[in-house]
Amino acid sequence: MLMKNENVAISCHVKGIVQGVGFRPFVYRIALANDLAGWVKNDVVGVQIHVEGAAESINNFIEDLQEKAPPASEVVSVDTRPTDKQSISGFEIRESESLNRPLVRITPDLCICEDCRREILDSTNRRYLYPYTNCTNCGPRYSIIEALPYDRRHTTMTNWSMCSECSDEYHDPADRRFHAQPNCCPTCGPTFKFHALDKNTVYVADALAKCASYLQEGKIVAIKGIGGFHLACDAKNEVAVEQIRARKFRKEKPFALMAKDLATAQQFVTVSVEDHSLLKSPASPIVLLNRKAASQAIAPNVAPGMDELGIMLPYTPLHVLLFELGAPNVIVLTSANRSNEPIAYTDNGALSSLSEIADAFLIGDRPIARRTDDSVVRTVGGSTIQLRRARGFAPAVVTTFPSKRPILAVGADLKNTVTLVVDGEAVMSPYIGDLEHYEVQVSHEQVIEDLTQMYELPLDEVLVVHDTHPGYISTQKALELPGEKIAIQHHRAHIASVLAERRAWDQTVVGVAFDGTGYGDDGTIWGGEIFVGSLKEGFERVKHLKPAWLPGGDAAVKNPEQAAAGFLHVLAKEYDFSTEPFNFSSSFHQGLSLIEKDVQTFTTTSIGRLFDTVAALLGFTRKMSFEGQAAIWLENLAVNSSAGKIYSFPNFNHDALLTAIIKDYLEEKPRGDIARIFIRSLALAIVEVYAELSDGIHSVPLVLSGGVFQNQLLCKDIMSLIQQKKASVELWQNLHVPPNDGGISLGQTALAVI
Ligand code: ZN
Ligand code: ZN
Ligand code: FE
Repeated sequence: MLMKNENVAISCHVKGIVQGVGFRPFVYRIALANDLAGWVKNDVVGVQIHVEGAAESINNFIEDLQEKAPPASEVVSVDTRPTDKQSISGFEIRESESLNRPLVRITPDLCICEDCRREILDSTNRRYLYPYTNCTNCGPRYSIIEALPYDRRHTTMTNWSMCSECSDEYHDPADRRFHAQPNCCPTCGPTFKFHALDKNTVYVADALAKCASYLQEGKIVAIKGIGGFHLACDAKNEVAVEQIRARKFRKEKPFALMAKDLATAQQFVTVSVEDHSLLKSPASPIVLLNRKAASQAIAPNVAPGMDELGIMLPYTPLHVLLFELGAPNVIVLTSANRSNEPIAYTDNGALSSLSEIADAFLIGDRPIARRTDDSVVRTVGGSTIQLRRARGFAPAVVTTFPSKRPILAVGADLKNTVTLVVDGEAVMSPYIGDLEHYEVQVSHEQVIEDLTQMYELPLDEVLVVHDTHPGYISTQKALELPGEKIAIQHHRAHIASVLAERRAWDQTVVGVAFDGTGYGDDGTIWGGEIFVGSLKEGFERVKHLKPAWLPGGDAAVKNPEQAAAGFLHVLAKEYDFSTEPFNFSSSFHQGLSLIEKDVQTFTTTSIGRLFDTVAALLGFTRKMSFEGQAAIWLENLAVNSSAGKIYSFPNFNHDALLTAIIKDYLEEKPRGDIARIFIRSLALAIVEVYAELSDGIHSVPLVLSGGVFQNQLLCKDIMSLIQQKKASVELWQNLHVPPNDGGISLGQTALAVI
């Protein structure tokens, strides 16, 4: 601690997310407030500050630096050391040193801040009702950047020049809009136009109000947002929701909602403290929240059969204004695309692909540089699980590596993302989608090109990492790229993604990778794998689900009855599954006969298919209309049951487990109880196998990854079983990347380089 009145100088280095988030103006303001002289500038790894003045003021300044930092910033460390006085008067923001190559400094898009919200709702403010309002604390970044460094001329705002008032703000270090690259106002900036297709009219002056009234009337509007177009309609209007489903060919997959404010959301869903802070965070993701009984007001076809609703709060000035101008207080807001295509983000693309779907378009002039979907998260026991990592999170750095080698990992074919490692920093792309669709493949190529160009990395110098699956489209695309290639097994990549996030390069762990599908070392389809090892030494597969058949291959992935045939073909000799209570259709029997004839039949250790089998036994016998639907259905069935017994599931041998389930169901035990016991039995089997494998080894974390661990009941059960054992087991799950295949690209980079 410094002497109170002594006059001193301090040099300060701040690391974390401190660039492009209004950090330098913030430093400027707190320096002036504390009566200090000096300067601030960005450097290669953060922000550098020199301050001089009274010792007490410097102490206050350092406190303010940590406690009052801008909402979008994240201060990781503040290193201070005494330095020589430079006898400067006043405080200035200095220009950054020019760098040879752009470093990893692209900030994700940020939700509207409280100050901007106040301005657009204040009738005396010059930005009253202006939908493109932003400042250094908020607004678009990634979605408007054309190139680095992040300057206005490198953004999609380049065609608008600032009026004198905006320019004054931009150049005034004391202003909230100092160096806010997309700064604009109604005088100088872009506007929105409302295209009413049904009336063949374009509204300009009252575009937003018109849009709000269309939504109120039950119409479907395509709205241009931050990272692409959304389709919107009144979430309480069943007919409107049905129209979107019919026009989009989207049968049952739930739609996300946007509620006017927290109080409105709380009418329909339960919001915990953690959920609340996620909803209001700068990333403003879609948060999956448990429905309240009163949520009947939401049209039932928004999320048929689902116990949860995906909700977000207004995150752009545009959204705030639509509600303010009379839009229904909760609207469906779903990515605008035809079924399975990537989100539309260009005006022409949207107009041509959505004209059959939307009754009207609300289109803003500011172009979107690249598409970014809304992110989806859920909280379990106080921690956050990423389900779809995109807007607001990408492309922030997810971890750092002790290696400078540039690496590009192309991910897996489902829920694809790519990860680029530049100067030891791992940047993950936003969610791209499922590569079986041509448009998504094009998008995948664009993202690779975009990321590598942005960081000026010549592709032939980059180590390319892909899945071991020879049939994956991502593998084939990777093999077409120049440069050295490495293949990484899918489930090891899942475990590696968790370790990479924690920079645990040497740590030996027990890794449980449970998911639907991944190519195994032996060429069969894995998905219930247990490994022991470390990133450095590699992971040895020590246990796995007892293999079952997968009749019909990929077709069985979409058809739970067909998957069930693979697990039940022996039991089918004992039980008649075509009668009550199972009522399996001919697809089950076709599955059985494929196995008997050994046609189109594969071996699998997939826990995902085991979930499908149990779901089919308990009544989910229709074809799935989206990935993971049967497992989610099963979790919904189980969620309100507290049945306490356990099914025997020794060594992941499913015979006894499935027999017990069949017997219980024949004895008319409630399906919810059976589903609940199944999930708890799986949790117990994991904890038991962990105990066995870690016996005698000192402190071995239990690592869980793979799509199955999106199941919150399973995760909660594992946590509570560990607590009951009172053992000091460290449970490691993914922190910033999804446990599903969206996290694979990060794991691939880690295994390739460490
Ligand atoms: Zn703002
Ligand atoms: Zn202006
Ligand atoms: Fe997977």
